[in-house]
Amino acid sequence: MTEEQDRKKEKLLSVVVSVYNEEQALAEFYQETSRILKTLPWDYELIFVNDGSRDGSLSILARLSEADSRVKVVDFSRNFGHEAAMIAGLDYSRGDGIVCMDADLQHPPECLPDIVSRFEEGYQVISMVRTKNADAGLIKNITSSGFYWLINAISDVHFEPNASDFFALDKAVARVLQTSYREKVRFLRGYVQNVGFKKTTLSYEARPRVAGESKYSLKKLFIFSVNTILCFSNMPLKLGIYAGMVSGLLGLAVMIYTLFTRSGAPSGYATIVVLICFMFAMLFLIVGIIGEYIAILFTELKDRPVYIVSNTINMENNGER
Ligand code: UDP
Ligand code: MG
Repeated sequence: MTEEQDRKKEKLLSVVVSVYNEEQALAEFYQETSRILKTLPWDYELIFVNDGSRDGSLSILARLSEADSRVKVVDFSRNFGHEAAMIAGLDYSRGDGIVCMDADLQHPPECLPDIVSRFEEGYQVISMVRTKNADAGLIKNITSSGFYWLINAISDVHFEPNASDFFALDKAVARVLQTSYREKVRFLRGYVQNVGFKKTTLSYEARPRVAGESKYSLKKLFIFSVNTILCFSNMPLKLGIYAGMVSGLLGLAVMIYTLFTRSGAPSGYATIVVLICFMFAMLFLIVGIIGEYIAILFTELKDRPVYIVSNTINMENNGER
């Protein structure tokens, strides 16, 4: 495609890519994605957010951005996590349409032309739904379905099962996420699915990771899931009320039973021990849940930055934030 043809492209697509120790995947990602981006009717920028990588990712990105001015880099001062990296990418992008994707080619760039045509049809939020995940094991698949079932059961917002961190937004929606939803404990995918606007879904098959390994351990996913449930539902806070009602009824039943059978105190020993253990377990569980909510409140209250940028490359036209 010649320079002249490029200049005719009026709209801009920003592709936001979070990068954490992806030195083995970056070159291939850049090549494959650029090849497809060049065929699009829109101009593009590739925004790589380096989330405190400890390997050679940054030097690869610096090299790519030197050779290609469409490659832009936001470099974090340390690792802030995938979510923070996507938010930074949204903050810095200036496209009419913005796509968030992973650097490991699990989110196939072949979907980009479809995404652009959906934008042209007037859709504003495009969720990419995974039909198959070549890398996820049985445990990851079961826990993921369990998580979506639970969150949909106890929260008022609806979560698309199998929605991934692969999604596309237009400028207006990006503006909403740039100014609101700036929570410190967050689930970007949840906001994307619940801001409204004209929405559609596209399905894709997740490919195996091109190189390196997943940065999300089961432990990280567990913490992430608990935080999401606490952020999107107040139901766990009300458990105390339900538990109180249940134990009240239980007490009443035991009282009636004792009165009617007139059983003597010594035979009730085991009952008392079991009841005390049960009650304390419930009490501590509920205190723990309240503690988790307080921890989130405390984090929000401290209002620390979601991310800290130490350097940017080729960002002259995107405006610093
Ligand atoms: N990532 C990141 N910061 C992190 C962990 C991951 O920016 O702390 C990036 C990572 O480089 C990749 C994307 O987020 O581009 C998704 O991570 P990964 O592929 O490890 O997760 P999975 O696809 O296995 O869920
Ligand atoms: Mg991945």
